[in-house]
Amino acid sequence: ALPPEGTLLVQRYTPAIEEKQRHRLHLQQAIRGATERGEMSLAFQPKLSLADHKILGAEALLRWQHPEFGLISPGEFIPLAEASGDILSIGDWVLDEAMRHINAWRAQGLLNDDFHIAVNVAARQLTRKDFAQQLLKRLAEQQIPERFFALEVTESGLMSDMNHARQQLAQLAKMNIAVAIDDFGTGQSSLAYIKTLPFSTLKIDRAFVMDLETSAIDRQLAHTITQLAHSVGCDVVAEGIETSAQAAYLSSIGCEAAQGYFYARPLPAEAFATWCTEWKPLLSTPYTETVNGS
Ligand code: C2E
Ligand code: MG
Ligand code: MG
Ligand code: MG
Repeated sequence: ALPPEGTLLVQRYTPAIEEKQRHRLHLQQAIRGATERGEMSLAFQPKLSLADHKILGAEALLRWQHPEFGLISPGEFIPLAEASGDILSIGDWVLDEAMRHINAWRAQGLLNDDFHIAVNVAARQLTRKDFAQQLLKRLAEQQIPERFFALEVTESGLMSDMNHARQQLAQLAKMNIAVAIDDFGTGQSSLAYIKTLPFSTLKIDRAFVMDLETSAIDRQLAHTITQLAHSVGCDVVAEGIETSAQAAYLSSIGCEAAQGYFYARPLPAEAFATWCTEWKPLLSTPYTETVNGS
């Protein structure tokens, strides 16, 4: 019901909400210049082949160490940087930084020929008309063959400007840069995307992986998503694997690759290099129907 005439409508902020908004504003301002101040870094999480547990590559994940607030999760600051537009310069920094590491690791002989580093790309970056062209230029300048480099794009990233994203993705495909659709199944219109856009990989979101051991529905969904991906010629990577049973199930349904704390957490660059040299492929555990279905 409408308030009586003459009533002043005052938005009531609780101190907690006000504090939260102040914090967000503060963070949003602090993001500008964070790369120049050396507060940002990349962590690398290995991707493994489920068939033989060989290292296929890694995903680069942005980390922000704020001098006052400590480590801030990208889930918190990326949306702020997207809203302010700072994601464009940060995104460029991420690309350069990933390439710098690729070259350092190639020089050390750490990367074999089918090892790639995947970088997450925000919607705003793909709305740049020359994104694909700029990326190609950077790779050429750094003398990095395209196959060492891959991108991950979320569904919501594509929603914002489908036609433009389509052009950029088509160019990337022509340039032989693998593009994965990230967090698959959590956004909207997933089916339309995979039908019309040139992805090479589909990443099953952690939401479908976490309850595999207890939920028959989730097992069915993971299976169906994997078949769907294969039917349009995509490889499948499952994210957020934390147990051997999850890995074994995903392997049994033909999912090609896996990423998750079970193998390794995202690691600082040096720790990642060490992890790679020390990694011994585990013997794979065959999946047996011992999980408690529900
Ligand atoms: P994402 O691309 O889906 O990355 C996977 C997230 O799952 C990462 O969170 C990773 O640390 C986490 N993860 C991996 N394995 C496990 C596991 O076994 N268990 C659990 N609980 N979590 C796991 P993170 O690093 O906090 O990143 C969150 C999101 O932020 C990323 O989701 C990505 O969308 C975005 N992001 C990260 N770095 C960048 C970047 O450089 N650029 C852009 N645009 N977005 C980024
Ligand atoms: Mg990702
Ligand atoms: Mg993901
Ligand atoms: Mg995810």
